[in-house]
Amino acid sequence: MAPFSMKTYRLTRIAPTPSGFLHLGNALSFAITYALAKRHGTKIMLRIDDLDQNRVKMSYVEDLFDTLRFLDFPWHYGPRNVKEYQDSFSQIHRMPLYHKVLDQLVGKNLVYACQCSRKKIAQSSPDGSYPGTCRAKHIGLGHKQVNWRLKTDQRPLTMQMESNELVSPLPAIMKDFIIRKKDGAPSYQLASVVDDIHYGVDLIVRGDDLQDSSWTQLFIADLLPENQFSKGTFYHHPLLMDNGEHKLSKSAGSTSIHGLRKLGKSKEAIYQQLGVFMGFSESVFSLEEFERAFNQKRLP
Ligand SMILES: [Zn+2]
Repeated sequence: MAPFSMKTYRLTRIAPTPSGFLHLGNALSFAITYALAKRHGTKIMLRIDDLDQNRVKMSYVEDLFDTLRFLDFPWHYGPRNVKEYQDSFSQIHRMPLYHKVLDQLVGKNLVYACQCSRKKIAQSSPDGSYPGTCRAKHIGLGHKQVNWRLKTDQRPLTMQMESNELVSPLPAIMKDFIIRKKDGAPSYQLASVVDDIHYGVDLIVRGDDLQDSSWTQLFIADLLPENQFSKGTFYHHPLLMDNGEHKLSKSAGSTSIHGLRKLGKSKEAIYQQLGVFMGFSESVFSLEEFERAFNQKRLP
C-alpha cells in the first residue's frame, strides 16, 4: 500500500519573493513542489510575492526567471518573463481583489483597528502573541496608521495532508493576526490565501516554518464563500539549514544560486547537494532524477 494517497490535485504553486537572490533553500522547495506535482498529476503556477514593494528589486525578479531556467524548472501558469510579470502578474494588479475580501470581513464585523506598536506588544506579551488590547477600544477603521486585525477564536480547523488530516485551533501566536497593515496594504497572510483561492490552488507546498501561516490562511478561507483552499492539501517540507542550525536566508550570499554559479557551480552539482540533504540513497544530478528519487523514497 502506498503511504500517501494517489489523489489528483489541480494546481500547486511556487511563490518566491523577489527581495533577494534565490538560494538553495528555494531550489529545494521548488524541487519538492515539482516532485509532488508529478506524484499527483498537478499543474504548477509561478506566483511572485511582491506585495512588500519596498523590498522588491527588479534585479531580483530577473534573477528569479534566470535561476528557474538555469535549474530547468518548468511551470504551466504565471509570468514567463519580467514583462509579463509587470503587465499582468504582479500582486499590485490584484489589489482590488484583496480589498474586496477585506470588505467582506469588515461586513461580517470581524475586523478591528489596532494602534499598538510592535514594541508595546513585545513588552506585554513575552511570546509575541497579540493580547487583544484594542479589541474593545472601537478605534475607527479609517484612522491613519492602524493595523487591521481579525477577531479570531478557538474554533477547530481541519488541515488535509497527503495521507491524514490534522485538527487544531489557530496557534496562539497568531491570535487576532493582522490582515491589513498600517500602510493600508493587505498582509501577507491575507494576500497569499486570496491569491491561492483566486487561481484555484489546491495543493499547497511550503517549508515547515510556514505551518502557522497555513493554519492562519485556513482560518481566513473558512470565513470566505465556499472555496477549494479550505479543503486543499498541505505539504510542509523540511528546511535546508546552514551549518545544521540556521534556516538559509537571502542575506547569506554564499548560498545564493547566483553566487554559486559565479563560483562555477553547475546545475548538476546543485541538484546533487539537494539530493544529499534529502538523504536519497543514490546521487541525483537533475530535476528529473530528484523527482524519481523523491517519489521512490515515498516520504510520508
Ligand atoms: Zn492594539
